[in-house]
Amino acid sequence: MTEITAGFQNDALVVMSEIYRRAAYGRNHPLAIPRVETALDIAADLGWIAGRNRPSPVADEGLLARFHTPAWIAALREADAAGVVSAAVRSRHGLGTMENPLFRGVFERAATSVGGSFEAARLALDGRIVFHPAGGTHHGRPDGASGFCYFNDPVFAVLGLLDAGLDRVAYVDLDAHHGDGVENAFAADPRVHTVSIHEAGRFPGTGALDDRREGRARNLPVPRGLVDDELAHLIDEAVVPILKRLAPQAVVVTCGADPLLGDPLSAMRLSNRALIAATLAVVARAPRAVVLGGGGYNPWTLARHWAALWGALAGFPAPDRLPEVSRRRLAALDCDLVEEEDRDPAWFETLIDRPSNGPVRDEIRAIAAAIRTP
Ligand SMILES: [Zn+2]
Repeated sequence: MTEITAGFQNDALVVMSEIYRRAAYGRNHPLAIPRVETALDIAADLGWIAGRNRPSPVADEGLLARFHTPAWIAALREADAAGVVSAAVRSRHGLGTMENPLFRGVFERAATSVGGSFEAARLALDGRIVFHPAGGTHHGRPDGASGFCYFNDPVFAVLGLLDAGLDRVAYVDLDAHHGDGVENAFAADPRVHTVSIHEAGRFPGTGALDDRREGRARNLPVPRGLVDDELAHLIDEAVVPILKRLAPQAVVVTCGADPLLGDPLSAMRLSNRALIAATLAVVARAPRAVVLGGGGYNPWTLARHWAALWGALAGFPAPDRLPEVSRRRLAALDCDLVEEEDRDPAWFETLIDRPSNGPVRDEIRAIAAAIRTP
């Protein structure tokens, strides 16, 4: 098993592409903000990227067709080339809506995310942790777009592990929203177990506590305001016991930044230190791990989280204060969804959040008890 101890470097890798620097999602979309590129630029400022980065291939149509329908693949490619979406494509595939807009380059971008997650799985097979922050599009459906996701790259990370002959793969989803697309994809596959922690009452509305999909899925829908101590309770008392029982040969973790305090699309109140600790606890349960990004709509908390997460996965100690070059990157960001008076000065100075502590509510204890019941 790969040793993860802060301060001791390991052989973790990060899969990257310059495509994420291009503008995407048009205007007035929660994802039309700098995301992956800022996180990795900050990591590079800290000296954490050189020698550990691997290029993201672009998935070809043969690979895409292992999960997505030929009609959807063709519709997205053709709409991107033409710059318009027909009414028929909009209604059948959910493309060209406020939620899933058509924008120039969407096909290549989505196919690069799939190629990156499939490559991350291949690289992880050696017994490594591989980080692919541009992954995590967990709502993508076989036949269309959903929840800002065009394809479903986490499905391909799992497929890449199964292709190598593994038959016990765990998928753990720490994004603020239910990992519905991945749960559905493997609902009939006995080799894959899924666990999702998400805020109840949010998009897509699925992932109820009693949704177990023949016993291989677990869902932890949490009330608003989840704090660090509550996440730690769920990880220690529910997720880790399940993973211990399962003894997965590999894990795929979706690490959306939207559970962080200050994110405009959830009411969770976590610090990045809690999400990082949760991710490390999950990764430690398997000898191979693919760690993906996901949602996240506050560009400051997102960039700091994914930079800090990569540092923790790769074993670099985090600085108390960011270097000047990184602070300038954070100062240059803007976001219509986060009011100026709500912007914590620490988001512009530090990498690791202050703890966000609070009591563990009875509802949280009840969820943990229900989930660990076989
Ligand atoms: Zn999300």
